[in-house]
Amino acid sequence: MVDNYVDLREEMVNVQLIRRGIADAGVLRAMRHVPRHIFAGPSNRDSAYADMALDIGMHQTISQPYMVAVMTELLEPSMTDRVLEIGTGSGYQAAVLSEIVLKVYTVERIESLSEQAQKKFAEAGYNNICVKVADGTLGWPTEAPFDKIIVTAAAPDIPAPLIEQLGPEGIIVAPVGQRHSQQLLKLVKRGGVIEKSYHVPCVFVPLLGRLGWDS
Ligand code: SAH
Repeated sequence: MVDNYVDLREEMVNVQLIRRGIADAGVLRAMRHVPRHIFAGPSNRDSAYADMALDIGMHQTISQPYMVAVMTELLEPSMTDRVLEIGTGSGYQAAVLSEIVLKVYTVERIESLSEQAQKKFAEAGYNNICVKVADGTLGWPTEAPFDKIIVTAAAPDIPAPLIEQLGPEGIIVAPVGQRHSQQLLKLVKRGGVIEKSYHVPCVFVPLLGRLGWDS
């Protein structure tokens, strides 16, 4: 897609991502391409490619580009993957994934955000993203198992249904910890054994629902 933001995206990728160690070619290619300004919305147009999270209304945010890149890279996405995302929000993270993987399933609890994101997927031409309005702490059982699962809201721990809905050799990336400060947790299922590693500190909005925070 050629738009007026090509240079800003190139600068974002070079300065915010490559210089900070993001190396996955697929992630860099996707983030050079996805029109973040469309997902950020008209009120954020001027700061769409800035080095920060942005407000998308309903007390929710679109993550900083670097955080999107780190999470996507940790997910080790490949072109055959079916990926579940919990927390559609603006739809930006789902769009980045959709450029790399086979299919993205994304769940959002706030209907208006899901509807807006769907319009943006259509506007930007993404047609391998399935959306659902539901409590994502319960996953998406009818589409399981997933090769990868990404949670883009913070919880005290990864909800058990998500681990159950992860296929063999699958990977989950999620911000886990306290209400106002977390760390990215990468969980890998290897032959029935679960390995966990902790990565960068982060601050995400809360995952609300049956197996998340109450309010
Ligand atoms: N991935 C998004 C950012 C997500 S912000 C993007 O790229 O823009 C976190 C989102 O998680 C919010 O939209 C919030 O409403 C949603 N959320 C919180 N708890 C949820 C739950 N239990 N199920 C689904 N979505 C949830």
